[in-house]
Amino acid sequence: MMITQDQVDRILRLDGNGLPLVSLYIPAEPDRTGHRALLTRVASLLDRIRPLAEDRSLEHAARLSLRDDIAKIGKSLEEEPHRPGAVAVFSCSGNGVYEQVWLPRSTRERIVVDADPYVRPMLGVLDEYYRTCAVIVDKGTGQVWEHYIDEARELETIRDRTLRKPNYAAGLAEDRVRNKADELSKRHYRRLIGELKQLFGTGRFDLLVVGGHSHEVPVFIEFLPRELRDRLIGSFTVDRETATPADIKQKVRELVSDHAHQEQRQLVGEILEARAARRPGAVGLDETLWAASLAAIRTLAVDEDAVAPGVVCDRDGLLARSGKTCPLCGEPLREVPDIIDELTETVIDDGGEVRHIEPETELRAHQAGALLRFELPPQ
Ligand SMILES: [Zn+2]
Repeated sequence: MMITQDQVDRILRLDGNGLPLVSLYIPAEPDRTGHRALLTRVASLLDRIRPLAEDRSLEHAARLSLRDDIAKIGKSLEEEPHRPGAVAVFSCSGNGVYEQVWLPRSTRERIVVDADPYVRPMLGVLDEYYRTCAVIVDKGTGQVWEHYIDEARELETIRDRTLRKPNYAAGLAEDRVRNKADELSKRHYRRLIGELKQLFGTGRFDLLVVGGHSHEVPVFIEFLPRELRDRLIGSFTVDRETATPADIKQKVRELVSDHAHQEQRQLVGEILEARAARRPGAVGLDETLWAASLAAIRTLAVDEDAVAPGVVCDRDGLLARSGKTCPLCGEPLREVPDIIDELTETVIDDGGEVRHIEPETELRAHQAGALLRFELPPQ
């Protein structure tokens, strides 16, 4: 159920080939009562598209495909999710397409029937996670790992010839043996780097980390060309022979988390600075909600712990902390338990970026802030 980069790429390429494609998102709470509630919500979402499956104005093949989608999605989600977050499903039975993925954060529930998959909520969530390449170097061996969200998998191991037992009897002087060994490890490093260049060249990874023996890692890093060094966020010491995949995963997780926190602090700094310099920025929940209501948010920063009740206008999407009627259209406002949730979904729908701020920063007291596309008109 865990999402992989391959699966994301596959979903982005999906196409109904003339048949309707169903995209469904549902927040997941992994406990029994939560799961029962989830199934009720899924059934009600599927009921919304049931009339379409009976619509005689659609071609027979399209109706048949939709009917199969509804049956398949309902059945497949009966299995309980194991982690909190959200489940996304992309289905087009007529083309044999069925993709179900777990997302690490909750999304708003929705169902969309279209010629293409509705991917924006999925990309909006995944946008926050780095795709990290971890390479474990050792004399003659290079292990390449892919780390994404909270999963690690080995992509490949590259082995090269080494001089394990120098043959002094053959008459080689000791320094000549060492030179030969150095030459072999250089060749090995070059080959490994060629492989990494190819992996990064396809856009598969955002970040690079290097692990290995303390005497080898710095030497290998010296070999990295500029384009790979720019992606390098850190290195760690590990013995490839004795380290378990869990050890490596833990080391990588620490480096990636430090890097993420550093970027999050930097973003908060940029937002406060923009506001202070009178550049388009929003600080505080009221201002940020107003900015989101006007689709002005380019990058939203919300404190990880922020939760606040609020109100929304179902007609034009206005978001606010309180109020009875919409200041834009005069319609009555609907109360929601968490306006921050509505805020992040609105920003994703409008094509903005969302960043959850984990470390304690000045944003904690303000709950939310944003870099804006334009200066806000007065509220
Ligand atoms: Zn309104």
